[in-house]
Amino acid sequence: MEDLISYGGGINSTALAILLIKQGWSGSIVFADTGCEWPDTYCFMDYFESAWLAPRGHRIERIRQKHKAGGKSLIEYCESALVIPLAAMRWCTAEWKVEALRRYAPDARMLLGISAEEAHRQKGRPCPLVDAGIDRQGCIEIIQAEGLTIPHKSSCYICPFQQDAQWRELWQRHPDLFDRAMQLEEAVQGKRTSHKKCTIDPDGEIYLRQRKLRYESQLPLLDDAAMEELLAYKPCVCGL
Ligand code: SF4
Repeated sequence: MEDLISYGGGINSTALAILLIKQGWSGSIVFADTGCEWPDTYCFMDYFESAWLAPRGHRIERIRQKHKAGGKSLIEYCESALVIPLAAMRWCTAEWKVEALRRYAPDARMLLGISAEEAHRQKGRPCPLVDAGIDRQGCIEIIQAEGLTIPHKSSCYICPFQQDAQWRELWQRHPDLFDRAMQLEEAVQGKRTSHKKCTIDPDGEIYLRQRKLRYESQLPLLDDAAMEELLAYKPCVCGL
């Protein structure tokens, strides 16, 4: 039975790959791509692969689910079926991540990048970081020790678990993607017959258009330091 790393493109699974490869591990590193990850994640993966993995004979296997809705990406599926990911149900993770990986390698043992302080999420699954007592800070140190840039938080750009700071960053740095998420939310709301709110926000409190209006209204209020920070926003590691 082959071991594979369920790679997410973020801090924990990157540290896990480094840790295991330095110990001589030689399994597969597999990324289940929803098709709507943050661009920064795709860029980091290319960077990590060329700067660190390839010289050591490794690569990231990128897979897309094929079993659901004719293999659509998650955003394409949401736009055609008029649904949004819901924090309470996580059907998106179940289909586009877990099931995609299971179908790709049904007999593989999947190693997860769960860190020590999240041990409660382990639930009997193999988590080498937990076994080694490596927490989030330890993961950061593993990556930095290799001279690599720390990856952006990985998630879909339509993820309901994103906090306001992440939505603001998306609006600021990837306005086209923010607008696409906003248009999806409005299309889903538009098809509803009830007046109940249907938002990507997990608390159902605020629409993305309301967030956008707030961010835009705050722009003229930014002081010099905040404006400087905004303008100095670093691009992702590939420079795009
Ligand atoms: S990152 Fe968010 S939207 Fe994407 S699959 Fe996971 S829970 Fe769903």
